[in-house]
Amino acid sequence: MKIAFYTLGCKVNQYETQALKEKFIDKGYEIVEDTEFADVYVINTCTVTGLADRKSRQYIRRVKRINADCITAVIGCYAQVNPEEVGAIAGVDIVAGTNEKNKLPLYVEEAMAQKNIIPVYHVKDYQELCEYEETGSITSMESRTRAFIKIQEGCNRFCSYCVIPYARGAVRSRAKEDILSEAKSLLEKGFKELVLTGINTALYGMEPGFYQDEEMIVDENGEQRKIYGIEVIVRALNALPGDFRIRLGSLEPTVVNAEYVKHLLNYNKLCHHFHLSMQSGSNAVLSAMNRNYDREMYFEMVNELRSADPRFGISTDIIVGFPGETERDFRDSVDMVEKVEFCKVHVFKYSKRPMTKAAQMKGHLAPEVKNKRSEELIRIAETAAQNFYTRLSGCERMVLFEEYDSKTGYYRGHSDNFIEVYCKSEEDISNTFARVTMDKPYRLGMLGTIK
Ligand code: SF4
Repeated sequence: MKIAFYTLGCKVNQYETQALKEKFIDKGYEIVEDTEFADVYVINTCTVTGLADRKSRQYIRRVKRINADCITAVIGCYAQVNPEEVGAIAGVDIVAGTNEKNKLPLYVEEAMAQKNIIPVYHVKDYQELCEYEETGSITSMESRTRAFIKIQEGCNRFCSYCVIPYARGAVRSRAKEDILSEAKSLLEKGFKELVLTGINTALYGMEPGFYQDEEMIVDENGEQRKIYGIEVIVRALNALPGDFRIRLGSLEPTVVNAEYVKHLLNYNKLCHHFHLSMQSGSNAVLSAMNRNYDREMYFEMVNELRSADPRFGISTDIIVGFPGETERDFRDSVDMVEKVEFCKVHVFKYSKRPMTKAAQMKGHLAPEVKNKRSEELIRIAETAAQNFYTRLSGCERMVLFEEYDSKTGYYRGHSDNFIEVYCKSEEDISNTFARVTMDKPYRLGMLGTIK
């Protein structure tokens, strides 16, 4: 049997698709590309924006044109939040929500046996999503160098624009021993970078009753202190032997603060790059978003990181056009982008999402205003990133090379502070670390010289 997967959205979705692929391979299926003929198509959807829903629908409609008799299984966040809408699309056989991935092989077998004419739904109410669904350790990734490790599920922050808590359910963390055993097996397979991912990784282990006993350590100042949250996992992974590094997929400023990130800097395998979603530079908008920090607290975290390492890489997400966002508010976001010099800014136009508070708010802005602000902020963010790169010229960073880039004739990799780096090399340096002197901005990254 041939099966194809099409994945939208975040690193967690990509991790879950990989885990599913391995389950179907164990059952004797052959994995084919999502453009090829297959007996089964699995679409792992995203619903973070209206555009994500549209892309999910486009692909769902496409698979029946490739094979009219295929089984079409739609899983993931769009299926969880809007099962009826998904099920109404012609040709959908299975609609499976969050926490239903482990059972998907069974659902596919049932669909093949029963040849139902109407879709079969496997979707629980998001408030029932309280168990961590252990999908088992993955053993490979598309990349040979970097592997994602899912450590956490769900979110309880309910930022007013965000649909994710309704798609993913309550905060629940993966057992530490499962994370460590997956990490060890991936390192044995030669992966050099472990990317910790989750819906809100900073909330790791924060749900009541997760820890039997508190973890106390003697920290860098010789003081006893309790560790919690993602530091527990970073500390455990940092202690594993071997030449590898740890990268955090994202870190929510709604959970961590300057003092917390300072502690994380004590772990030498942890990359000096954090994806700290700022969302807006305006305190009025941050408050309306229910993001329990203000621009001063965010900046304090940036200063803490940059005082430890002046070229600490910080990337972020910013929403423009949030309901009621004034020109003054937008200027505050521009100002933060110029001040922080993010290495990368993902700019999103506000998208009305079902069940969210912001959807009911007054002052929704016209698409033209959102488009204009988005274009302007993308331009300003690119200039700020170039300024950050220029400040890196002449500095040394550790780079993990991923592959030879035949188009440029360089080996391409990423520095610890998450800059794409291109270097010349006579020998094959794929999947190896090298100390590099950063030269000048090049493409979406920098040229460098191996020391
Ligand atoms: S922290 Fe806010 S933006 Fe992030 S997943 Fe949770 S609700 Fe969504």
